[in-house]
Amino acid sequence: MSTLQHWIGGRQVESSGTRTQPVFNPATGQRVRDVALGTVQDLQTAVDAALRAQQTWADMPPIRRARHLLSFLQLLNEQRDAIAAAITEEHGKVLSDARGEVMRGIEIVEFACGIAPMLKGDFTDQVATGLDNWTIRQPLGVVAGITPFNFPCMVPCWMFPIALACGNTFILKPSERDPSASLLMAQLLKQAGVPDGVFNIVQGDATVVNAILQHPDIKAVSFVGSTPVAKHIYTEGSRNGKRTQALGGAKNHMVVMPDADLDQAVDALIGSAYGSAGERCMAISVAVLVGDVADKIMPRLAERARTLKIADGTVADAEMGPIITRDSVKRISGYIEEGRTSGASLVVDGRVDPSSGQPFAVKGREDGFWLGGTLFDHVKPEMKIYREEIFGPVLACVRVKDFTDAVRLINAHEFANGVSCYTRDGHVAREFARRIEVGMVGINVPIPVPMAWHGFGGWKSSLFGDTHVYGQEGIRFYTRQKSIMQRWPESTAKGSEFVIPSSI
Ligand code: NAD
Repeated sequence: MSTLQHWIGGRQVESSGTRTQPVFNPATGQRVRDVALGTVQDLQTAVDAALRAQQTWADMPPIRRARHLLSFLQLLNEQRDAIAAAITEEHGKVLSDARGEVMRGIEIVEFACGIAPMLKGDFTDQVATGLDNWTIRQPLGVVAGITPFNFPCMVPCWMFPIALACGNTFILKPSERDPSASLLMAQLLKQAGVPDGVFNIVQGDATVVNAILQHPDIKAVSFVGSTPVAKHIYTEGSRNGKRTQALGGAKNHMVVMPDADLDQAVDALIGSAYGSAGERCMAISVAVLVGDVADKIMPRLAERARTLKIADGTVADAEMGPIITRDSVKRISGYIEEGRTSGASLVVDGRVDPSSGQPFAVKGREDGFWLGGTLFDHVKPEMKIYREEIFGPVLACVRVKDFTDAVRLINAHEFANGVSCYTRDGHVAREFARRIEVGMVGINVPIPVPMAWHGFGGWKSSLFGDTHVYGQEGIRFYTRQKSIMQRWPESTAKGSEFVIPSSI
């Protein structure tokens, strides 16, 4: 059994400790490799490498850094399918979806390649007689990213291409459940000529994460993962004086208004609730059905949920793959039971195979981590299956009277990552977009993941910190402003000034 190791200073580096964790193919249930769980010493080795590379990388003209990223972009495009295959093997999502994920990562790299004009500063001539003032943005130094299992390529790409383009060196702590995609990208960065030490990976778990949060030479931490860990990262990172952005969990609602195109709404709900087995931070997990919509679409949702094409992600027409771990299957099944006993109508129970009545499993892959699509109706706001993030293929339908109730319901929720509204009424759409207290809004778009230059982030318990990831906010996060005032001896009056300088 091979063990994936760290990537430090442009090469694979063996862990100084002995702890490892198995990595599974969730479709077969087989352990495919192990991953090292790093130590505090391993993190120190990575920080040393990142510090050594930092000054030279920061001093390189941004356009030359961008050229390295352009070479990386080309290699990433060439290796798209290999990365997607690694994602499907370790995460389980269907291959077409894995390819889509890699493409969304590539878009951020494309954005980062345009860094040079985005780093240009502001200049004011003559703020006082003979005095000019300008601002520049400089890199922070060594920065770190900690990422979740559900997008092992795209989420790291939300961070490192922009951090690197801005002149920082980077340490990534990827998810220990699917670590291969980031190692493939590390090799491509090296091939692209990115100097050793500029991009590093330390594999591991909470030990490495906590060492990152405490390390005085790491100036900023970007985190994406569950809300309890995001809170911990934000609190500890900030307490230790680091710039910190921590994106957390979600419970994304989709409102279906009575005037919506119901065919489109059904397609959107099925795709966004069950795509990637619901293990997306932008998955729709709550349908808010307004007026008589529920009676019209519930039978159609049930039929579609029952007949999802669930298979090993490598099967060409698969719509949904397995769940990440056996423990996650148990956790999600627990939520389904909880929903049933708390009084919601369990319309489709993904725990059982509808044809045999046996526990759900894919033929020929019985040892895999499987669940079918689950559909609940008559879910109430006080129920646990409504309040908490389940992070699995479970769609909860809540019936509301009108638009006002829909908005009130969503605005009262703890999470506020993404939201969507299906309607044909422009006024309703506009009101929705303005009044809803959620970070990312879709109008007739179920999963409104913003484009590379718009920035991604939720509100409330879905994001701790001030800036969203990538886009202009990403550039701000990975740089700090310096203001410079300049005057030359010819225009400097003689003698000390004891009054605050002004333009007079
Ligand atoms: P997770 O919080 O379990 O793990 C995320 C990272 O934190 C991993 O690298 C993990 O090793 C580390 N970690 C886990 N427990 C830790 C602890 N106690 N102390 C320190 N570090 C710890 O999340 P996950 O299960 O990998 O990913 C799923 C979660 O991520 C979901 O809640 C999902 O909503 C969220 N997510 C959010 C976004 C977003 O943009 N808001 C995007 C993707 C995923």
